Amino acid sequence: MEVVIVGAGTFGGSLAWWLARSGDSVTLVDQFEPGDLRASSGGETRFYRCAHGPDTEYTAMARRARALWHELEEESGQELLVECGFAWFAHREDGWEAASERTLIAQGIPVEHLDTSSAAELYPTFGGDDLAFVLYEPDGGVLRAERSMKTLAAQAVSHGARIVRGRARPEGATVVLEDSTRLHGDVIIWACGPWLPKLFPDLVSLRVTQQEVLFFDGGPAWRAPDIPVWVDYEQSRCGTADIDDAGVKAFTDDEGPELDPDAELPTTTRTEEFVRTYLGRRFPALAEAPLLRSRSCRYELTADTRLIGAPHPDQPSVWIVGGGSGHGLKLGPPMAELVATAIAAGTTLPAGFALGQRSGSESLRTASSSRSS
Ligand SMILES: Cc1cc2nc3c(=O)[nH]c(=O)nc-3n(C[C@H](O)[C@H](O)[C@H](O)COP(=O)(O)OP(=O)(O)OC[C@H]3O[C@@H](n4cnc5c(N)ncnc54)[C@H](O)[C@@H]3O)c2cc1C
Repeated sequence: MEVVIVGAGTFGGSLAWWLARSGDSVTLVDQFEPGDLRASSGGETRFYRCAHGPDTEYTAMARRARALWHELEEESGQELLVECGFAWFAHREDGWEAASERTLIAQGIPVEHLDTSSAAELYPTFGGDDLAFVLYEPDGGVLRAERSMKTLAAQAVSHGARIVRGRARPEGATVVLEDSTRLHGDVIIWACGPWLPKLFPDLVSLRVTQQEVLFFDGGPAWRAPDIPVWVDYEQSRCGTADIDDAGVKAFTDDEGPELDPDAELPTTTRTEEFVRTYLGRRFPALAEAPLLRSRSCRYELTADTRLIGAPHPDQPSVWIVGGGSGHGLKLGPPMAELVATAIAAGTTLPAGFALGQRSGSESLRTASSSRSS
């Protein structure tokens, strides 16, 4: 099968890897290099976790992701997934974290219910008086984002894929590059992240927002390899220890202002004050930690935070994949598996992956609400 994939982010890159190693002839097109900071999959790290509240489907998909990222690591010799553990700070005994715990246990995924004094041992400093408990995923951690994107593309190439650099637009069931070159395939996949609504305005509904990530100098204590990722779901604050000397990462998952995918990413910082306030309360030694740098990236949010993966209604050989909604990077490989299996079988994915308008809760993100801070 000849396949043209536009977009070398987590979804396009994973599909290229998956299909090329299955023996398909793959052309992967992108306007940027894989891992570019302007793409939603670029940058240092992304969280890897299985907890998704009561959602059994995304919990299982995240667990499958772990096996597939490990397969890619084995194949490439690259270290992509850092399993430093993942801690959820629960403010109530019966909230989202408790629902996650039940789902994880039901699926046999390792999880621990820690009291706050045990949780304090996970971090160099810790203030947990306001917490009911901490839900700990020992297999959670982070994915090295840019390295993962480069590895997906490199492994696709090692299985015979061709990479084409350029900006593309759809014309029926063909891909047209800026120099008017036309690419044809038995299957065309548009995995264009925040750009999808520009390419398919009648089919894809996404909010594209500017998000910030901040990096602080936490000193040597925060460079230990086994300090877990942390998320305060109710207060929408999250972060990691200092991984790969990038600094202690902290940010809010609240929805930022809308930002065109082609606009420059802002370089000023608008969230430092309230991220720092949270850090100082939760990890007192970080209260005065110098800000090393901040950077912006884009969320591409579906209204229900669920992924998109469906054929074009008028062009069944054309698929549209994306809608990562602030949690999708880790799901690239299992989504590729699902989409590739559906294409091979001539079927579609369940209705939850459909194109068009969505409604429903945003519970798959690492924040209980999308409000702006
Ligand atoms: C701050 C932040 C934190 C996040 N945290 C997490 C997390 O902790 N865990 C997690 O799993 N996920 C997280 N995410 C979400 C996740 O990173 C994204 O949802 C996911 O990476 C999107 O992948 P994608 O392949 O859909 O899009 P992208 O990575 O944007 O890839 C799309 C590609 O298509 C290309 N493209 C677009 N249009 C065209 C065109 N016309 N012609 C040629 N090329 C084109 C672009 O150049 C781009 O490379 C986070 C995202 C951000 C921004």
